[in-house]
Amino acid sequence: MDNFSKVLSGKAVADTVLEYVKSTTDRLVRQGIKPGLAVVIVGEDPASQVYVRSKGKKAEECGFLSIKHELAEQTSESQLLSLIASLNEDSTVHGILVQLPLPKHINADKVVQSISPDKDVDGFHYVNVGKLGTGAVAQAFVPCTPAGSMVLIEKVLGPDLSGLDAVVIGRSNIVGKPMANLLLAANATVTIAHSKTKNLRSVCRRADIIVAAVGRPRMVKSDWIKPGALIIDVGINRIVSDPDVGSKSRLVGDVDFDDALNTVGTITPVPGGVGPMTIAMLMANTLKAACLANGLPQPAF
Ligand code: NDP
Repeated sequence: MDNFSKVLSGKAVADTVLEYVKSTTDRLVRQGIKPGLAVVIVGEDPASQVYVRSKGKKAEECGFLSIKHELAEQTSESQLLSLIASLNEDSTVHGILVQLPLPKHINADKVVQSISPDKDVDGFHYVNVGKLGTGAVAQAFVPCTPAGSMVLIEKVLGPDLSGLDAVVIGRSNIVGKPMANLLLAANATVTIAHSKTKNLRSVCRRADIIVAAVGRPRMVKSDWIKPGALIIDVGINRIVSDPDVGSKSRLVGDVDFDDALNTVGTITPVPGGVGPMTIAMLMANTLKAACLANGLPQPAF
């Protein structure tokens, strides 16, 4: 296999998911159902503003009702909770997303847990975490980044990972743990590695699938990788570029892409890998919420 065909474009797969979301939404709208996504942002954090804008734009492109609530930095916790309560009651809203991080005076966990589990398109509510953890994957809203990573894994290896060893590097509630649960539900033999793991290189080297969700630029090197393995690079790290390249900074993953390319079977690039899948799965989750709220069969991705 040449190196070019080893690179799995998340952008291309995300476009397919989004096309499916759009065409299904068209059909729903003709039946009088318009999926609605409400995004709530508190404060002025520039990165959060960019994320929220792109989520809103993508929701509009999908044909959704796209609602944005921009609240001032000094908004109180109780004001935010009462907004969530009203969105929970609003039948035009099927998905609610509160952009994190929240200002320090607000208890983010309390806010996230106040979202109705049926509208929890981020998949952070304990009800959805519990469903995923007990293997009721189809009934759960799964966090978008691991859900998107799993779609990429299925593209390469199919839905049944029986007999395959998977290593997830990172144990966050947002990426690592739900990722491990998804792999387990697909019959992989799963190891979760983290900062206290010893001999990480040799742990990784036996894996048929590595999902790197660490936040350390280019940590995973070619000699950590079993020849032919599938590598899903979740990491997004901004590094200062070589001035010769002509730009001040650029994004790299947790895997040393150039070094790994000769060893891997397939690898996702950064950018253009898991990132586009994350936003596509947010749209997919919102569509799913709209279908379930209206007693329709849920779409399959
Ligand atoms: P967290 O910081 O919450 O978790 C990082 C995990 O990596 C922790 O479990 C930590 O271990 C582990 N870790 C840190 N250092 C090491 C090390 N040297 N060896 C092994 N494990 C280590 O990050 P997130 O899970 O939120 O995100 C991970 C990465 O994914 C980040 O780069 C983030 O930007 C990116 N990301 C990308 C998204 C996308 O859409 N593509 C979406 C979300 C995140 P411990 O628990 O012991 O501290």
